[in-house]
Amino acid sequence: LSDRLTSTFKNLRSKGRLSEADIDATIREIRRALLDADVAVPVVRDFAGIVRERALSAEVSGALNPAQQVVKIVNEELVNILGGEHRPLNFAKTGPTVIMLAGLQGAGKTTLAGKLALNLKEQGHTPMLVAADLQRPNAVTQLKVVGERAGVPVYAPHPGNQGEAALPGVSAGDPVSVALAGLETAKTRQHSVIIVDTAGRLGVDQELMEQAADIRDAINPNEILFVIDAMIGQDAVATAQAFNEGVNFTGVVLSKLDGDARGGAALSVARVTGKPILFASTGEKLTDFEVFHPDRMASRILDMGDILTLIEQAEKAFDTQEAERMAQKIQDGKDFTLADFLVQMQQLRNMGSMKKMLGMLPGMGQMREALDNFDEREVNRIEAIIQSMTPAERDNPKIINGSRRSRIAKGSGTTVTEINQLLQRFDAAQKMMRQMNKGGGAGMPGMPGM
Ligand code: GDP
Ligand code: MG
Repeated sequence: LSDRLTSTFKNLRSKGRLSEADIDATIREIRRALLDADVAVPVVRDFAGIVRERALSAEVSGALNPAQQVVKIVNEELVNILGGEHRPLNFAKTGPTVIMLAGLQGAGKTTLAGKLALNLKEQGHTPMLVAADLQRPNAVTQLKVVGERAGVPVYAPHPGNQGEAALPGVSAGDPVSVALAGLETAKTRQHSVIIVDTAGRLGVDQELMEQAADIRDAINPNEILFVIDAMIGQDAVATAQAFNEGVNFTGVVLSKLDGDARGGAALSVARVTGKPILFASTGEKLTDFEVFHPDRMASRILDMGDILTLIEQAEKAFDTQEAERMAQKIQDGKDFTLADFLVQMQQLRNMGSMKKMLGMLPGMGQMREALDNFDEREVNRIEAIIQSMTPAERDNPKIINGSRRSRIAKGSGTTVTEINQLLQRFDAAQKMMRQMNKGGGAGMPGMPGM
């Protein structure tokens, strides 16, 4: 995508307004990027519509070209749908917090149970795992192994496990009564959290869903986390919808984000269910577990390296008021002065901090070169020189003759040669500004490559 977007940027670079054609060209690339990332087709369509509408009514930015501006809107909308700020877990006010896991078989529930338990333990909670997946023969054993690794006790349905006697009425074969007995046990042993692992099937099925709903109704969870494999691709929508209707989950965990998947499933699930994504699972180890960051996910889905950071920095570096003043000046047909030139150089200096980032971006070679050749000390010298000029000299550099030059050189601690160089550069910049004025564009004057 980066390459394609870079060429879109190039084509749109010199235009000052967001036209429908500009917007549609960029949105076409964005649609392709989202489909590449395996975002579900209807979600892509719907998303493109949202972005288009916003872009059409957007104010034209002084700092960004149209393509960058559309990308910025895309990113904001992505972050919006993915949940904005991270949403923390809901904890019970009294008694143990009940967290129930749901999802297809192989989604990563049992692995997540261990990761979450370890994470909570590290935060000072005293979690216990409850094995309510009685579907697969070795599911209970798997949870016990995970619990052992995390150093967290596991409540399992066999009397005699960890010494507990079967509670009255508990049948070892019934996940609902096992879950309930787990909750009761947690209360007596004063565990602050229980994580209830449940069964999954390869496809969504009614019996499984009813079982999950029954467990939910019995233990009344504070959180029902829907675990979904990030590699699921286009099936994400149907699966998420089925679980949303079946158990009405409260949050999502995206698993296997360590794979090749670009995470389009995250966008599909978030858009279709409106539920927040709380965590990401990123490997087979217990510590491969992260709080979900919508902004990071957005750039992963867009696969744009640091273009987004770059846009942010460009906006910061470019003082909007200055841009408006400059644009107005050009429109009024007034000339570009040495004072304006100084402002531009200072802005370029602010962008010097972007140098490192530019190195990581494809297609930004030209701009990187400009910044590489840019010397911060030079701006300091230019500042000193211009400050040593009289207002009349600043307004009209043509009057700066030989004796004025040596006066300015002395005043600024520079040499006449440096004054000559500056005046030459300024002259070239002024010509360029006049050229732009003729062309009618009031884009981003004097910023090479932007
Ligand atoms: P469950 O059926 O939903 O309980 O899924 P499991 O927790 O048993 O996981 C199924 C398989 O996926 C196991 O082989 C796990 O080791 C693996 N797995 C789970 N989470 C991750 C993850 O985040 N990354 C990777 N690479 N593998 C995972
Ligand atoms: Mg399992």
